[in-house]
Amino acid sequence: MITIKNLVKTYTTGSKTTTALNGINLEIGEGEIFGIIGHSGAGKSTLIRCINMLERPTSGSVWIGDTDMARLGKSQLQRQRRRIGMIFQHFNLLSSATVYDNIAFPLRLERASRAEIDRKVKAMLELVGLTEHARKYPAQLSGGQKQRVGIARALATDPRVLLCDEATSALDPQTTDSILRLLLDINRKLGLTIVLITHEMHVIQSICDKVAVIHGGIIAEQGPVIDVFLKP
Ligand code: ADP
Ligand code: ADP
Repeated sequence: MITIKNLVKTYTTGSKTTTALNGINLEIGEGEIFGIIGHSGAGKSTLIRCINMLERPTSGSVWIGDTDMARLGKSQLQRQRRRIGMIFQHFNLLSSATVYDNIAFPLRLERASRAEIDRKVKAMLELVGLTEHARKYPAQLSGGQKQRVGIARALATDPRVLLCDEATSALDPQTTDSILRLLLDINRKLGLTIVLITHEMHVIQSICDKVAVIHGGIIAEQGPVIDVFLKP
């Protein structure tokens, strides 16, 4: 489903060059929940942003299905990006829009019809359990509810992949568990491939099938969670 080959990303600011990713190779299977764990500065955000080309790799390739994302032009990339949902640590909701309108936002960008938008938003509200909160604004919601809106917005365009960037790091342990259960439920229900980056071992152990440990821009180890972390 996602194949990353020899991915390198360097940032240059003035005369200073930072190598954030130094030859990443990863294979993520369809329908997997794949965790990427590492300390701050390890390269996690850069890696996830290279998967949907929010950052252009310096070299290497990122295949999603049979498309090499690194080789797409702007308009093709925009089309492909709709197939990749993303959720964030700080939710990134539009504060002046209701829950309904936040979820409708990516559908409006796609110029979906009003009927289609309404059908889809209602299905997403139901999926994340927020039907009763459609008319509220983000400020009226708890952190967990805000992330549910983030998930609903990310899934509204029927992506094949959901990228989660420290999606539970701003939440308390109980809320974290409820969001992780929701992600697991969505993975099972929709067969969606989920890639999540985190610095929390607990997140990896509770829902991931496989894990890669990233350190200094390279993958130190990868495999089934049970092999990587639960070895005697
Ligand atoms: P993590 O998400 O694991 O904390 P990042 O991917 O954010 O790691 O960062 C990896 C390295 O790349 C760090 O050394 C960081 O300082 C550097 N870096 C990240 N983004 C930029 C940027 N836009 N410009 C320059 N350096 C960056
Ligand atoms: P900003 O310039 O502060 O990001 P925007 O109006 O562009 O303001 O976006 C507001 C919020 O909506 C941001 O947090 C952003 O992450 C989110 N957003 C913007 N564009 C999209 C999109 N195409 N799909 C989903 N969320 C988006």
